[in-house]
Amino acid sequence: MKLHRLAMNDGQSIPQLGFGLWEVPAEQTARVVREGLAAGYRLIDGAAIYGNEKGLGEGLRETDVPRDRIFVTTKVWNDRQGRTEARRAVEESLERIGLDRIDLILIHWPCPHRDLYHDTWKTLIELRDEGRVTSIGVSNFHEAQLQRIIGETGVVPVLNQIELHPRLQQADLRAFHKAHGIITQSWTPLGQGRSFDAAPVRQAAARTGKSPAQIILRWHLQIGCSVIPRSTRAAGLAENIDLFDFALTDDEMAGIASLDAGERTGPDPMRFN
Ligand code: NAD
Repeated sequence: MKLHRLAMNDGQSIPQLGFGLWEVPAEQTARVVREGLAAGYRLIDGAAIYGNEKGLGEGLRETDVPRDRIFVTTKVWNDRQGRTEARRAVEESLERIGLDRIDLILIHWPCPHRDLYHDTWKTLIELRDEGRVTSIGVSNFHEAQLQRIIGETGVVPVLNQIELHPRLQQADLRAFHKAHGIITQSWTPLGQGRSFDAAPVRQAAARTGKSPAQIILRWHLQIGCSVIPRSTRAAGLAENIDLFDFALTDDEMAGIASLDAGERTGPDPMRFN
C-alpha cells in the first residue's frame, strides 16, 4: 500500500496518515513503532513530553523499513521555549531518538502568556538552516499567533497540529491554513469516541462495513487533513490504516459536518501555559 503524501510549503512532503505516541508507555514504544511501520505507516508523531523518545529511536533502529522512508515528528515542550532553551531541547530530543536530523519539529503549544513562541520559532528557523531539522511547524496555534510568527520572520510553518474531530471541526482555522499553505494535522482525531454513535457515523459504517473509527479517520482524509490516530495494539494500528478501499459520499461528509459542536476534549490553547 502506498500512502498518499501531502506537499508542504517548503518543498518537502509528509504522509497524510500516521500514528501518534501520546500516552504510549515508554517500555512499549519500540514495539508500537515497529508494529506501526510493519502495518504500513510511514509517519510517527512523537513529542519530548510523551517521555518515550528513546523507545521511538529503538523502534526506528529495529525496523526493516529504511530511515529515509520514515517521517518522524517531535515537539518542543512548553518549559523549553525561548532561544537558548529551545535549541537545547531540540538537541536533547535528537540525542534521545538517536538521529542527526529529524524530519519535523513543532512548537507544542504557543503558551501566549509566556510570550516566547516567536523567539522559539526563530530558533527553529536557525536549526532548520543548520540542517538539524528538515521542516518546522507548530501545534495548537491560533490565527493571530500564526500571523505574528509569519509577520516577524517571513517563514510560514509547514503545518499546525490542532485538536480536530467531528465535534470540533475548526473550519475557520482550516480556511486560514489553506489560504497560507499550511497543512492542518488533526490530534485526538477520534474525539474520545464521542461521535461513534452519531447517526451519520453509524449510517456510513453500516453502508461500508467499516468501524465508526474508520469512518471518522476517512472523514479527516477527505477534508484534506493529515491525521495521527493512536493505538498501542497491532490490530488497532491495522484497523486505523485500513481506510483506502472505500470513500464517504458527499451526503455522508455533509452528515458528519453537521456534528460540529465546538467542543474540545483538551485544553484551550489561549489559556494553556
Ligand atoms: P486518538 O483520537 O487517536 O484516540 C486514541 C484513543 O482511541 C485510545 O484510547 C485508543 O485506544 C482508541 N482507539 C484507537 N483506535 C481505535 C479504533 N479503531 N476504535 C476504537 N478506539 C480506538 O487520540 P490521541 O492519542 O489523543 O491523539 C492522537 C495523537 O495526536 C497522539 O498520540 C499524539 O501523537 C497527538 N496529540 C497531540 C497533541 C498536541 O497538543 N499537539 C495533543 C494530543 C494528542
